Amino acid sequence: MKLLLRGHDDRYAVEQLQLALFPEEPMEPAAEPFSGDGAVSTLHTGAVWLTATAEITLHGKTGRACRRLRAAEADVPARRRLLQNTYYEAAMCLREPPAWGSLSGVRPTKLTTRALLEGKTPAEAEKLLRTRYHVSPERSRLCVEASEATVQAAQLLRPQDVSVYVGIPFCPTRCAYCSFVSSSIERFSGLLEPYLDALVREIAHTGDLLRASGRTVRTLYIGGGTPTTLSSAQLRRLMEALRTHIDLTELVEYTVEGGRPDTLDAEKLETIASMGCGRMSINPQTMNDAVLARVGRRHTAAQTAAAYEAARAAGYDAVNMDLIAGLPGDDPGSFADSLRQVLALAPENVTVHTLALKKGADLYAGRMELPSADAVAQMLAGAETSLRAAGYTPYYLYRQKYMSGSFENIGWCRPGTAGLYNIYMMEEMHSIVSLGGGAMTKINLPDGRLERFHNPKFPQQYLERIDDVLAQKDAAFRLL
Ligand code: SF4
Repeated sequence: MKLLLRGHDDRYAVEQLQLALFPEEPMEPAAEPFSGDGAVSTLHTGAVWLTATAEITLHGKTGRACRRLRAAEADVPARRRLLQNTYYEAAMCLREPPAWGSLSGVRPTKLTTRALLEGKTPAEAEKLLRTRYHVSPERSRLCVEASEATVQAAQLLRPQDVSVYVGIPFCPTRCAYCSFVSSSIERFSGLLEPYLDALVREIAHTGDLLRASGRTVRTLYIGGGTPTTLSSAQLRRLMEALRTHIDLTELVEYTVEGGRPDTLDAEKLETIASMGCGRMSINPQTMNDAVLARVGRRHTAAQTAAAYEAARAAGYDAVNMDLIAGLPGDDPGSFADSLRQVLALAPENVTVHTLALKKGADLYAGRMELPSADAVAQMLAGAETSLRAAGYTPYYLYRQKYMSGSFENIGWCRPGTAGLYNIYMMEEMHSIVSLGGGAMTKINLPDGRLERFHNPKFPQQYLERIDDVLAQKDAAFRLL
């Protein structure tokens, strides 16, 4: 679908909204003279008024809208809102209102968190989403609940705190929906030891930088990929290096993403717990074995349950379990059954994702039929009802591009067990120092902006460029 801008150049704001409101219409280039299907977003800047118009034509129907704003009140966010709201109103002549209204960003809770931190009540924060951004009452409520958890988590943070992320970009096999640069261990097992050698160098270097900068580590998250693709001995070496080089005495949360249940056994789970990790993530994605086989996850629901019991025996304070709504071959009944089995295990956290397909995923090519948007909506609505009935509340929430339907991912927790790293990272509340292949360090600058530093994506590149990685860490810490 074409998009032409006249009188302004805020393409990102309007384009993201168009993608969110018309996900089935691919973006196309547009130029004057403009005709046929597509959208035109126009801004006229007068002495007193800024006037935005939007005209959208699709399949022979046209929607139009016009709004204005006093030029004196038109700072950058207000101008952007004017353009987006005008586009949204024109689009609503052509389609039903989406649950997320005119919000197209991946972090809708930032708006409600800011409102609460500025002293607004939860009811006022909810109203802000409903009236200014046309968000449905249900989604507004979810956002505010997640933001209330964020406000609590913020109280644990001190100005000198950072979080540390360590990436292990290896997995036993590749899931059909994965677009991450994870290397299958079947093909790349020879890289594991050299990868760990390089990672230990980055850990030691980062430890020096943390000490010299006076920064303290509040949460530590070992993610992937699947970190537990490593053997017990390799995990011990990694976690020993973290303990030796980085001061972990101020930690309030230490998570390891077990991810695939087939990589977990009692010995590994005990090793990880003995090294100080208190939060383990075990991700079934579904408890339907046929669906697991279809998406290339070579484990069963029985293995998930066994891994969970082994984690409990190893003594973790908190266990998270991830499910995905919208996998091929799944349906609302089967999804509800997966959740029922997960809830019977009583993990502290349950994260309900919606399938998001990106280029690079095998499923992206469309070889498998996926559940309809209506079916996914039923799965998510049923999940919310069951989770609330079991005493869980939402503690973080985000959206992704390429997600099926107008949905979101939500982390649910039992009282007092919110996953802090997830909140700090998703709400961008403080700097995240990230290590390993594919990791991204994000530094929160004093003026509110973020500076990002990317490590090389693939393990082989990471090994070859480890000296550059260390030099880049120096640059990141100069901003801290
Ligand atoms: S476990 Fe996660 S990172 Fe690994 S292949 Fe599957 S989706 Fe990708």
